[in-house]
This record gives sequence, C-alpha cells and structure tokens, in this order.
Amino acid sequence: MRKPIIAGNWKMYKTLEEATQFAEEVKGLAPDPEKMDAVICSPAPYLAQLVQVLDGYPVAVGAQNMHYEDEGAFTGEVSPVQLKDLSVQYVIIGHSERREYFNETDEAVNKKAKAALKYELTPIICVGETLEEREAGNTEKKVSTQVKAALEGLNDSQVKQSVIAYEPIWAIGTGKTATAEDANEVCGAIRKTVAELYSDETAQAVRIQYGGSVKPENIDELLSMEHIDGALVGGASLKSDSFAKLLEAG
Ligand code: 13P
Repeated sequence: MRKPIIAGNWKMYKTLEEATQFAEEVKGLAPDPEKMDAVICSPAPYLAQLVQVLDGYPVAVGAQNMHYEDEGAFTGEVSPVQLKDLSVQYVIIGHSERREYFNETDEAVNKKAKAALKYELTPIICVGETLEEREAGNTEKKVSTQVKAALEGLNDSQVKQSVIAYEPIWAIGTGKTATAEDANEVCGAIRKTVAELYSDETAQAVRIQYGGSVKPENIDELLSMEHIDGALVGGASLKSDSFAKLLEAG
C-alpha cells in the first residue's frame, strides 16, 4: 500500500512573515504521519526558517529546485549539500516552469535526481505534456520519454524512494484539472514505464502524484484513483486553511 503524499509548491510567493505564519498555522493540523506525508516546498530563502518552525511536526520541508553539483562557481545556485545541511527532505526536480523558463533539459533533470538521492533528499520528479501534445495524442509518449530520461542510471531502490509528479502543463494554474480518469490513465502509463524499466515490484512501490489545479474540492476523487498517490499543489497550497483541507483528504 503506497502512502499518499501531498506537497505544496509555493513557487515564487510569500514573504518571510507569511511563510512563518503559515507554518505556525499548519503544524498543529498536520496529518497522521502513518497515513500521509505532507511537504511544503518553499522559496529557498525561507527553507531554514520553515525547518525550524516545523521541527518535530509531521510536515516536511522541500526545495523547488537545486543544482546537481556539490559546490562550485555557480552564481545564484543552491546545492544538494546545502539543502541537506538545512535538513530539507525533499526537492522538486524538473518542474515544467523550470523546463520552460530556465531551459532545464531531461539530462539536467536526471543529474539533479541522482544528486538528490546521493544526499538522501527525496526528488519529486515532474513530467507532463503541453496542450498541443495532448491534442496530437502524444501524452503517454511524452511522459514516458521524460520518465525514462529522468530515471536513467538509477537503481531499483533509488526509484522506489523517488516521487514522480504528473503535471499536465495545460492544467497548471489554469483552473482546468485533468479528469480523475484521465490523470489516472497517465499515472498508470507512468507506472507501466517504470515496470518495463525496472520491475513490477518497483513500479508498485513508486509514488506518483498528480498536479494541476488540485484543490480541496477535487482532491478526494483524485486520491481515490488506483495510480494517483498524492498531489503536487500550487495555488491551493498558499493558504493554510485550504492546505489543511488537502491534508484531511484520502
Ligand atoms: P496549480 O495547483 O496552481 O495549478 O499548480 C500546479 C503546480 O504547478 C504544482 O507544482
């Protein structure tokens, strides 16, 4: 049985004061850690503060991106070693906004996933198709290509520890959610790709989230689907009351 994982992706929102207040508000409302994993992925400047406020509570802290090198002359970047140093536990890798606006390639996504796992950070590896690709009937081809590239060179145990997030680009921030059936179908195709690359056992163990206009009103239906093990949530993770409602789901 896979444990659901709900992760909030704050993107480039919030002040330090707002981030701190949010953490204070959700820490007491957190889910039973046996039943669900909860994660907040905040902008890098607030990670240390969030780790401190949430210390001892079952809400983990994640970053939204990182470099794959341990250290070096990479102005503006944050390394896995630095995230580990702050006790950050998760890192989003290859979000479509990073791929689109910051030219992140499948190869970089793969290097980042490897670097995250090397430092025991759980990578949340994002894949997803554009509207054009969906309309051309290329959804499964696109996501399976991205999954293969992202997992290249990882072993079974590393894949089992990873989280894959299926985020159709046309559903992000648009209010258009994929139907639960469509999302489940693509998450199932991702699981099949993992089974072909690794084994049924690995495919059954890896957690696959759906992301794209998830909110308290649609989370229950999404989580009831066979292949959807959680959600990566943008807009609805910004308010503590709606994030708390998402954590009550399932
Ligand atoms: P929204 O939930 O705002 O559509 O964002 C989804 C997303 O990109 C999460 O990573």
